[in-house]
Amino acid sequence: MKKPRLRHLTANIAFAVVLILCLALTTLAFIHQTYTEIQHHSIARFSIAERDVASIVRSTGQSLQDVDGKLAALLDSLSGKSVRQDIFQHVLDNAPSLRSISLIDPQGKILSSTTASNIGRVFDPAPWLPSSPPPPGDWLRIGPAHAGRDLADGVPLSDNGKTTPNPGFIPIVLDRSAAGDERKILIATLDLAYLLRQATDIAATPSARISFLRADGLRLCDTRPADAGLLMIEREISKNWQHDKTAVVQEQETIDERHWVVAHAQHPTLPFGVIWAAERDELIAEARHSMQRSNMTVMLLILAGMACALFGYIFFRLSNRGERERHLQAEAKRHLLESTLNACASAIIITRPDGAIEWANPAYSALTGYNIAESIGHNPRDLTKSGIQSKGFYAQMWQTINSGQVWRGELVNRRKDGNLYDEFLTISPATDANGAIQHFIATKEDFTERKAAREELEVAHSHLNAVVENFPGALVMEDTSGQIVLINQSIFDLLGLPGSNDYILNRPIYQLMVFISQAAEDSQAFMNRIEELRTTTRPVFGEEIIFKDGRWIERDFIPIRLHSKLIGFLYIYRDISQKKRHARELWQLATSDPLTGIPNRRTFFEHIEREHARLTRYPGEAAILMVDIDHFKQINDTHGHAGGDVMLCHIVRQIRKLLREPDTLARLGGEEFAILLPETNQEGALGLAERVRKVLEDTPLNYNGTQIHATASVGVTIMTPQDTNTDHALSRADHALYEAKNKGRNRVELALTEAE
Ligand code: GH3
Ligand code: MG
Ligand code: MG
Repeated sequence: MKKPRLRHLTANIAFAVVLILCLALTTLAFIHQTYTEIQHHSIARFSIAERDVASIVRSTGQSLQDVDGKLAALLDSLSGKSVRQDIFQHVLDNAPSLRSISLIDPQGKILSSTTASNIGRVFDPAPWLPSSPPPPGDWLRIGPAHAGRDLADGVPLSDNGKTTPNPGFIPIVLDRSAAGDERKILIATLDLAYLLRQATDIAATPSARISFLRADGLRLCDTRPADAGLLMIEREISKNWQHDKTAVVQEQETIDERHWVVAHAQHPTLPFGVIWAAERDELIAEARHSMQRSNMTVMLLILAGMACALFGYIFFRLSNRGERERHLQAEAKRHLLESTLNACASAIIITRPDGAIEWANPAYSALTGYNIAESIGHNPRDLTKSGIQSKGFYAQMWQTINSGQVWRGELVNRRKDGNLYDEFLTISPATDANGAIQHFIATKEDFTERKAAREELEVAHSHLNAVVENFPGALVMEDTSGQIVLINQSIFDLLGLPGSNDYILNRPIYQLMVFISQAAEDSQAFMNRIEELRTTTRPVFGEEIIFKDGRWIERDFIPIRLHSKLIGFLYIYRDISQKKRHARELWQLATSDPLTGIPNRRTFFEHIEREHARLTRYPGEAAILMVDIDHFKQINDTHGHAGGDVMLCHIVRQIRKLLREPDTLARLGGEEFAILLPETNQEGALGLAERVRKVLEDTPLNYNGTQIHATASVGVTIMTPQDTNTDHALSRADHALYEAKNKGRNRVELALTEAE
């Protein structure tokens, strides 16, 4: 940042120096120019004086000739006619240099005049006429200055010759020489101020003094009063008018040592001359002043120009500053981008459209083993090609990138040391505004480890697939958005559906759950439970669902977490109908008698224990009956063991007919049965015992064409809360049965409780 600042400071100083130098050179140039001009002007002053004098003489002469012409025309118009005052006035109006016109006869009597008070007066014009004889013919005569005042103002003529204090008029006399009384003389007065004003206007030198003199040397008027020295010079000149020259210019010194530039000329035909005089020092001062004024103007213009240059420079610098800042920002951005690319862990190269490397980052060197210098200008193909990819592979790649599309792919390349590596390559074409490809940008990543990891993942995936597909159950996994992310074929088997897991993968699990719910016995409960499980997100195993077709389905619900973050749910459905059947059978075997199907001894004891517990909570009574078939051995002996078995079943059927729903008939073993009668008192128990005895006695079994008769002895007891355990009650019932046997069989005996 320091260097550009120093450069700008230097530029500013250089500009200031150039500006000052320009100013100094311009000033010097103008001083020189002024000096030269003044010198030149001094030399030119003679020609200026000459030109001024000639111009004044010519101009004044024209004015006088104009007057002469007008007066001559007037005089001609008067011959033989009465004098008309209005014509006089008309001529006067058209000749601005004239103040008055009067007509006199040869005796000097004023016949007519534009000054009415003069008419009738008599005067002698002789004093006004020049002393030297005029040229022959018509001519204009000029009188002494102020002498025409009377004619113009109408003052008495008697004061002729007296000096008039104020500027007055010059009389002009036009005398047409005619014979006798016919002679007419016109006297007009010329405005002195007019003459002087005209001369001043013509003169290019303001300091010049201009004098009009009559041809005979009489001074008529001047623009400024002359001092004694000049008057002497004038007098000398008027004595020696030089008619052959237009103008004569001299430098003369007066007795008071003043230097004058004097120019003089006499009109070639009219009787007057002009003397132009200017002091030499004044002329020089005037030239200097004029030069200074014009130089000042030029100087101001130059200063303005320089100020504009300065402002322009400042404006340029200011606008340039913005441009510079933008440039610096762009430079910083470019630097940042390059640093980023250099710091990038991925190898990056920028190539020309033909593939030659223009730029590469350090990661490229690290990946390929070629340093940046030896990579630039080379085609990556020449550096890292392994020969493993086919020509078609590269042709397809070039076709893609040349059509302006991005190419991505994996390939095997060779490092500088000859080792192969897996590379993931991305090539992006960079185009200009017209879409023409200018560069290719290639990003290369060492894919070796990732490829190995990917292969590992693929192996793990195939393991998982094997497990999933061979899993003894239907598996469904959903992600947190409710999409099915894993499923196996068993789900279709479970639902009896044709289809494949590919079809259902990535579809909403809700649809599948609705489908499953329709197979379930309680569809609504199924859906509610699913909703509940997904809300509570706790694993639940072995939930059983009964399907409408009678199958038992078991469900495990397992929320899946990754680093304690929930990522989905796994549902496992298993058909457990077979297992259920086996269980039921086992249960049946364990709890009932295989021959008669009624509860076995163990079940009976469970029931009696349960009843005893109930009695302890809700005091009441229950009856226990022990039934033993009389002389069963004989039935076996007579009808065989099979006949005995049929008889046992027949006995069970008969007894069951007499029992209520809550009553339990159990086979305790052999031909010995027990009956539990809940909420039954002694009377009820004895009644039922009698009915059992009676029904067996009265209902023989028809077996193989013969009737088999059997009787039974029954022991009865009542179990109450007073029985501390069931053994007491059971032993009482046994005891009663023993009594019945002893007392002759086919009878009922009651065993009293301890309280009785
Ligand atoms: P009583 O009870 O009147 O004293 O004479 P009993 O003949 O019935 O004598 P006991 O109760 O001692 O004999 C029971 C007999 O029942 C012995 C056995 O042969 C027979 N028995 C036991 N279990 C079965 C069985 O499952 N099937 C058949 N058919 N007979 C059985
Ligand atoms: Mg027995
Ligand atoms: Mg018996």
